[in-house]
Parts: sequence; C-alpha cells; structure tokens
Amino acid sequence: MPAQPFAFRLDATDGRARTGAISTPRGQIRTPAFMPVGTAATVKAMLPESVRATGADILLGNTYHLMLRPTAERIDRLGGLHRFMNWDRPILTDSGGFQVMSLGALRKLDADGVTFKSHIDGSKHRLTPERSMEIQRLLGSDIVMCFDECPALPADRDRIAASMRLSMDWAARSRDAFGDRPGHALFGIQQGGLEEDLRAESAERLRSIGFEGYAVGGLAVGEGQEAMFDVLDYAPEQLPADKPRYLMGVGKPDDIVGAVKRGIDMMDCVLPSRSGRTGQAFTRRGVINIRNARHVDDPRPLDEECGCPACRGYSRAYLHHVSRSKEIIGSMLMTWHNLQYYQDLMADMRAAIAEERFEVWERDFHALRAAGDVEPV
Ligand SMILES: [Zn+2]
Repeated sequence: MPAQPFAFRLDATDGRARTGAISTPRGQIRTPAFMPVGTAATVKAMLPESVRATGADILLGNTYHLMLRPTAERIDRLGGLHRFMNWDRPILTDSGGFQVMSLGALRKLDADGVTFKSHIDGSKHRLTPERSMEIQRLLGSDIVMCFDECPALPADRDRIAASMRLSMDWAARSRDAFGDRPGHALFGIQQGGLEEDLRAESAERLRSIGFEGYAVGGLAVGEGQEAMFDVLDYAPEQLPADKPRYLMGVGKPDDIVGAVKRGIDMMDCVLPSRSGRTGQAFTRRGVINIRNARHVDDPRPLDEECGCPACRGYSRAYLHHVSRSKEIIGSMLMTWHNLQYYQDLMADMRAAIAEERFEVWERDFHALRAAGDVEPV
C-alpha cells in the first residue's frame, strides 16, 4: 500500500458549511460525508459493491458487536476487517463506549474502564481505552475513535461534567495507546452535553492532546433537534478548523442538512438502512411508508429523480407488495434506495457549498419536503 498519509483538505466554504476531502491510503473521503453503518461487518441487505455504487466513500464498523462476535482476534487472523467483509475502502470504527453505556444494568463503570455482560450470551468482558485501541488496531480500522463515556440526556450538570472529564482522561490514554501508525487516524470526541462552557473545556483538553480529527459526541441521545442545533451553533467552532469534524450518530435528512450548515464534515446513522427494512423510504418529498395502502396500485417509482435500482426498475406497487410480504428483496431494494438518497443528498450539498449557493439549495430542500409526496393515483 502506498505510504500516503492521512490528511484533510478544505476546498470551499459557504457560510459555516465546508466541503473538501480526507485522503487516506485506502482512498479519498469526500466531505461532507455520510457513512453507512456496517454494524456486524455488513451493511444489512447490501453487498459492499452496492454500497460503493451509491457513492459511499467510507463505512462505519462497531467495535462492541465485532469484539463479541466474531471477535477482533479472529478478524485479525483472517486478514483484518477490510478483507473479512470485502470492503477495501476506508473504515471508521467506534470505540465501543457508546454501545456499552447503552447496556444499562449489564455494565459497571469505574475510573479505569467498563466491565459488561454480552447481550448475546451473558459472558463477561472489559473495555478500557487501551483495550479499545487494541481491538480497533486488530480490526485494521482507518479512523479510530477514542474510548469515551457518554451519559444519556437529560442528565444533571455535575454528572455531565464528571463524565466529560473522565472521557478526557480516557482520550489522553487512547492517544498514548494508539501509538505511531502512519496512514491511520485517531479522532478525539468532545463531550459536555448541552453546556457551552463544558464543551469549551472538553475542546481545549482535546486540542492540547492533539488528534487527526474531532467528533462532537453526546448528541442525538434524546435531546431533540432544536437542542442539538443549539449546541452545533458553537461546538464545531470550538474544534480546530483545519481538521475533520464528525457528528456521531446523526441522523434524519434535515438533521444532516442542519449539521452541515453548522460546519460538520462527517456523519453516520443506521436510519437509512434500518428504515429500509421496515418499509420506510426517504425521498426528496419527505418520508413515505411503502406499506401504506395508497401505494398498492401505484405504477410510479418511489422517487422520480432517484437513479437507484429500486427506482429505475420497480414500481411503488411492487415495493409495497414485497415489503408487506417481508420478501428479502424488499429489504434489499428499500435499503439501496435509502442509502442512495443519503449519498445524493451529500453530493448535492457538496456541490452547493462549492458553488456558494447552499442557502438557496437549503431553501429548495425544505420547500420540496414541505410540499409532500405525489398525489395518490
Ligand atoms: Zn431510489
């Protein structure tokens, strides 16, 4: 593999929105970027080449799931996660922290790390910053996330402050444990809930440690869009302007547009793939439920402007039939469409930012959604 370093280049800004590219030895990531989620070494219902065909430059993998099954050591013996899942482009892995925290009563937190029981078989495991770095190295991840702790919101200020400071100690330990790995990146994660001064303190600690990129963490955990945007009005600018900024676990299309508008470069979410499997489609005219009776005789495509196989080759009536019948092709087509919609959205935003017409583009985006779905046949 060529020894190309990890680097971030900004090509244009429009307001606070930015477009550019991250270069890695495994290829370029155009920003703003949406990362489909490949939880268990697969983006469910999709072949890796199909995910690539939608325009995705990078996938996200989950440390928590992969460490339990099939285990990081097994993936390493089989040549790493890229080889294992047949995706040769960049992969970002989360640290496992967020999912372990979501286990509730199944986990026990101390200053050194977290002990938890597997949701699969109840076996006992432990994650520390050092172990999370080791697992993400065994997986062969291109972008590694610091191990952190994230309280669910609402939480009181003392709890959020203590949690943030623990995460910053863990960020320093993650940096030390990551070591010197040319071509690979370690991202720090800002915490601090909805408190601007705690976010500033967190950003300062992360900047003093120094990372190849920075995530805004601790959002999309139940605070609502308005509170999230309030934080995004200041949080990205507390982080270095010359490094990628990643908003973790977001979101719906209008969340993504609002985040890009506020200076975010990378996002991930299970929503397009998960929704596809339950019959929900994201379109330029908003969300539609293909299982709804209004589509049963409709010969038109899901989205007239979409070039994906589901829209080019199949009617709403067919998608309605296979989705209601729970045929596997229903999940495949609906997932493909949703991932295509998300990648088209990112491509549209990149072009609008590059041409300094983001504001007009955003107005049209909201207007078409407000107009709603096409009239029933
Ligand atoms: Zn489509």
